[in-house]
Amino acid sequence: MKRDYYEVLGVSKDAGADELKKTYRKLALELHPDRNPGNKEAEEKFKEAAEAYSVLSDAEKRKVYDQYGHVGLGGAGGGQSFQFDPSQFADFEDILGSFFGGGIFGDLFGGGRRRSGGEERGSDLQYNLKLSFRDAIFGKESVELSIPRLESCGSCHGSGCEPGSRPETCAQCRGAGQVAVRQGFFQMLAPCPRCEGRGRIIPKPCRECRGEGRISRKSKVSFKVPAGVDRGTRLRLQNQGEAGRFGGRSGDLYVVFDVEADPRYERDGTDLHQRLEVSWPLLVAGGSLDVETPYGSDKLKLAEGTPADHVVKLVNAGVPRLQGSGRGDLYLHLRVAVPKSLTAEQRQLVDQLRRSLGGEAAGEEEGFLAKVFGGTEKSGKKKRK
Ligand SMILES: [Zn+2]
Ligand SMILES: [Zn+2]
Repeated sequence: MKRDYYEVLGVSKDAGADELKKTYRKLALELHPDRNPGNKEAEEKFKEAAEAYSVLSDAEKRKVYDQYGHVGLGGAGGGQSFQFDPSQFADFEDILGSFFGGGIFGDLFGGGRRRSGGEERGSDLQYNLKLSFRDAIFGKESVELSIPRLESCGSCHGSGCEPGSRPETCAQCRGAGQVAVRQGFFQMLAPCPRCEGRGRIIPKPCRECRGEGRISRKSKVSFKVPAGVDRGTRLRLQNQGEAGRFGGRSGDLYVVFDVEADPRYERDGTDLHQRLEVSWPLLVAGGSLDVETPYGSDKLKLAEGTPADHVVKLVNAGVPRLQGSGRGDLYLHLRVAVPKSLTAEQRQLVDQLRRSLGGEAAGEEEGFLAKVFGGTEKSGKKKRK
């Protein structure tokens, strides 16, 4: 059970951005692994607080969380838990990264951004794309998405400076981005308040992007869907995420696929399963029938005396393997189609057949049931004697 984010940070539900930031900073400093070497519990709590802050400091996510709780952040299915990704929060490392030289996120969360000269890598974006059953199997030559994202400002080429001007080194921290701060017994490095840890000041912010170096825009992204993707397959489109701040590298765009179900097939990785209704005379006497595979129709030959629960494997008629070559298989699960009623003529023929196979005629119900179910009332009584 995940703890409530407000509880984790110890703030009330209506806490403002400043209070959140302050509380989180205090908590993070207290729990920081550098201060608690080898203390697993502190490390877990540190991560928990980081995750809570990353959600509550994001107005959009906080709204979802307030309304739906943890489930709301888990995507449509609600089954998975929210995946914490520190690289998605531009503000995030500003708060902590510069306290500890920035390395902690890489160490703790397996990733994170490196900074130099104030530039910041752009956020990764995720797009959920639903595909038809067939498109997932065969792939698609080209898909075009229209994605709202922050792009590098064309006017200042991402620098944030009005054309003709240049950024200046921050006078307070002399470009280091951090200043020494005393807190109790500790002397620590805190982000420079003047340049907000960037080390540089933009004297004349670009008018187009207001000094951000980025502009929000809807852009078209096209890519190819490889054959064989499945529900949950993630395609990474490098540098197609948001532009970095102050000329930083762009993030990546992740396309996560969902696949529509097909009433005919059940998919299991690269294998497909299909139910196939077969008339019982065909099983008994053998013969051929048409089957539909994703690759077209095929003729299936059944041998005389095919068992009713037989499974036929059509090698290489399944889903292409994303990694490696070849395809999975298609399994046809035979199912006997039993007619609901018979014409008088058919009944006669079935009776005839039954007699010939050593059974009894339809009039002698008891005898027939005894054959099928292995016992009648009479024989049952006999056994009990
Ligand atoms: Zn600009
Ligand atoms: Zn500074």
